[in-house]
Amino acid sequence: MTLRLAVVGHPIAHSLSPAMQTAALRTLRLDATYEARDVEPRELPTIVGELRDGRWQGLNVTLPHKVAVLSLCDHVEDDARVIGAVNTLCVAGGSVIGTNTDVLGLHASIAPYEPVLRGGHVVILGAGGAARAAAAVARRLDASSITIAARDVDKAAFDPFVSAVSFADRAALAAAFARASLLVQATSATMGPGADAFVDALPLDALAPRTIVTDLVYRPRHTRLLDACEARDLVTIDGTEMLVQQGAASLSRWLGRSIDASTTDAMRRALHDALR
Ligand code: NAP
Repeated sequence: MTLRLAVVGHPIAHSLSPAMQTAALRTLRLDATYEARDVEPRELPTIVGELRDGRWQGLNVTLPHKVAVLSLCDHVEDDARVIGAVNTLCVAGGSVIGTNTDVLGLHASIAPYEPVLRGGHVVILGAGGAARAAAAVARRLDASSITIAARDVDKAAFDPFVSAVSFADRAALAAAFARASLLVQATSATMGPGADAFVDALPLDALAPRTIVTDLVYRPRHTRLLDACEARDLVTIDGTEMLVQQGAASLSRWLGRSIDASTTDAMRRALHDALR
C-alpha cells in the first residue's frame, strides 16, 4: 500500500515541506507520496476525518490551521499543548493524535552545542508559538534561567520559570544578553521590511563571545541578525536546521522509526535548494 502523507494549509504553495519530505522519501526508497493540500478552514474537519479513516497515514498542519486543529484531535501530546499548536497529525488505532515537532526540531538543531549550553542562561526574543517551543527546549537544557523579550510582557507570562523583559527596556535586555549562553530569535521580525530597525535596536554588543545565536526565521536563510552576530565572531545557527529537524521528527512519527543522517542530509539539501 502506498503511504499517503501531506501538508495542509491555506494558502499552501509557499510550503517547503513537500520538497524536504519528498527528498526524504526518495532517499528511503519508500512507496510513499507527500502532497501539498490547500485546505480552507471549513474543510479542515473533512481531511482530519479522512486521516482517521485511513485515507492518509500522516499530515503536517501549517497556517492558518495549527491552533484550530487542536479541537479536532482525539489526543493532543504535551509538546503541542505547551506550544498551543499542532504541526503533525498521526493516527493510531483509529484515533487522531496531534503533536508538535518544533521542540524536538529546535533541540536537535542546537544539539552539537548542548554540552556548552547545559545549565546556562537562555534569552528568547518573542512570545508566540516558536518562543514557547524555545522555552521548552531551554528547560530540557536545564537552563539556569530564561528571559523572554516581548513587545507586550504580559504575553510572556505563559511560564512561571521565565522572566519577561520589554524590548523597550534596553538596559534590562542588555543585562540579559550579557548572561546569555544561548540567544533564540523567535519573532517574525527578522523576515520583514522592518528587520534592519529591529536588529539595530538589539544590544548585540552585550553578548559574550561564547554566546550561540539561532534565528528561527528561515526565509531569508541568512538574516540580518545572523550577519550581525557573525561579524562579532559568534557561533550562529540558521532557521533551516530546525525546519529540517522538525520535518525529520514528523517523518519519524509516521514511519515509526528513527531517521538516519543520510536522509536528513537529503532533506537539508532539498530545503537549501528550494530557498536559493
Ligand atoms: P507567532 O506565534 O505569530 O509569534 C510571533 C512573535 O513575534 C510574537 O511574539 C510577536 O509579538 C513577535 N513580533 C513580530 N514582529 C515583531 C517586532 N517587530 N518586534 C518584536 N516582536 C515582534 O509566530 P511563531 O509561530 O512564534 O513564529 C515566529 C517566527 O518563527 C516566524 O517567522 C516563523 O516562520 C518562525 N518559525 C520557524 C520555525 C523553524 O522550523 N525554523 C518553526 C516555527 C516558527 P506580538 O505578539 O507583540 O505581535
